[in-house]
Amino acid sequence: MTSDALDALTSALPPASWSRDPDEIAPHARDWRGRFQGAAPLLLKPASAEEVSRILDICHARRIAVLPQGGNTGLVGGSTPQGEVVISMKRMNAVRAVDPANDSLTCEAGAILETVQGAARDAGRLFPLSLGAQGSAMIGGLISTNAGGVHVLRYGMMRDLVLGLEAVLPGGQVLSDLAGLRKDNTGYDLKQLFIGAEGTLGVVTAATLKLFARPASTSVAIAAVDSPAGAVDLLSLVKASTGGAVCAFELMPRIGLDLVVAHVPGARHPLSGRPDWCVLIEVTSGEPDRAEILMERALETAFERGLVSDAVIAQSEAQAAEFWRLRESIPEGEKAHGKAAKHDVSVPVSRMAAFMEEASALAEGALEDALVIAFGHVGDGNVHFNIARREPGGGDEFLARAAPVTAQLYDLVDRHHGSISAEHGIGTSKQAEFLQRKPVQAGVMRAIKGVLDPHSIMNPRVLLG
Ligand SMILES: Cc1cc2nc3c(=O)[nH]c(=O)nc-3n(C[C@H](O)[C@H](O)[C@H](O)COP(=O)(O)OP(=O)(O)OC[C@H]3O[C@@H](n4cnc5c(N)ncnc54)[C@H](O)[C@@H]3O)c2cc1C
Repeated sequence: MTSDALDALTSALPPASWSRDPDEIAPHARDWRGRFQGAAPLLLKPASAEEVSRILDICHARRIAVLPQGGNTGLVGGSTPQGEVVISMKRMNAVRAVDPANDSLTCEAGAILETVQGAARDAGRLFPLSLGAQGSAMIGGLISTNAGGVHVLRYGMMRDLVLGLEAVLPGGQVLSDLAGLRKDNTGYDLKQLFIGAEGTLGVVTAATLKLFARPASTSVAIAAVDSPAGAVDLLSLVKASTGGAVCAFELMPRIGLDLVVAHVPGARHPLSGRPDWCVLIEVTSGEPDRAEILMERALETAFERGLVSDAVIAQSEAQAAEFWRLRESIPEGEKAHGKAAKHDVSVPVSRMAAFMEEASALAEGALEDALVIAFGHVGDGNVHFNIARREPGGGDEFLARAAPVTAQLYDLVDRHHGSISAEHGIGTSKQAEFLQRKPVQAGVMRAIKGVLDPHSIMNPRVLLG
């Protein structure tokens, strides 16, 4: 990037809106997991959509590549610059308005998810998106990756939670629709283009999000099942028995909980027999005390039918939080064990059990020291199917040996009509597999990008490459 181009950008913005200080740029050039190290000549920190517009006008005219960045918690290499100018949304973090009567909240793209959840709570409402990175991930990043998390089963993905958004296009035009309408049949639903676009079409600067009634009661339980197939059967039973009140249904293997207990201070097994498989179930209700009754009834039936061999229902909010902490800590336990080949895949729930069985056989057949750690949002067909080395301390050598298994695993996902990226996106790390497997979809996406971003300045290495 020429010093002339740098000067054009910095002179168009107030001093607080940019930095060339290497120390300030450094954390923006490395990803959360420390897997991707990059570099950026300039960090831009706009304070308004108008400043973003000025930036993209200059970048479009001068063919300067940019990378929009939120909380930098993305897991697929999409938020690490390799020479692009970083546009950090961290200063655009206001919750602009909460409209309880319309069940909606409008905020800027740099608002942190936890802040948005809190603002909804303060207004007596619920913003249901919930995930491990919620203390850092920002609304613009969550929209751009179409984030999922633990409540998709009940409330859907980010795509289902956005009523409208404001985005700045290359060239500087501002596309704005923040009215919060639930019905608006005026042609193409343009906001959906930006949801899951991974910053390749424009910069999301604000959004109007859907809010929900807060449940009056919540019950969280951990139950032992004999296999992933048993977990899927239990899911059907709990859904039917509670009248669809299941909010989360997370699969946890014994090895996952063993690693949490070994590496996370204060963690202990929730069930004495250390069963091979557990599920964490969350049921909610609009009526006080009702969720626990629904949970008890569902588990009783499950015991009678032999689907559950042991279970514990949280007796307090603190115990419920402890159960959730076990689930959320599996990645931390796994990380302490060593490096793992990670796969964020989905298949139809009805195929989950067969997929898990075949995938485990594939991994264990290909690598004699493989340790399969498969866990996650089985209620919506999404499993984090990770392969570590049985002995602790696996590193790059193990990852290199595991790499060929990834392609075979993705072939298996294809055979089960699944997706190689359930919720984390494509970024740069899944790009080759995506382009090879979805050439027609990639072609259509390129055509759309060509219209909105003809000089390919927006995240040019990400998603489509
Ligand atoms: C501990 C942990 C747990 C996680 N759990 C989950 C989970 O359960 N479910 C899930 O879906 N994800 C999960 N993630 C992944 C991650 O949190 C999500 O991908 C999140 O949506 C990223 O938000 P961010 O603000 O950090 O975005 P970033 O990482 O900064 O960016 C992600 C992508 O979006 C683009 N982008 C960011 N902001 C904008 C913007 N304003 N306009 C245009 N493009 C933009 C970036 O260029 C990049 O391509 C987890 C991550 C961690 C570290």
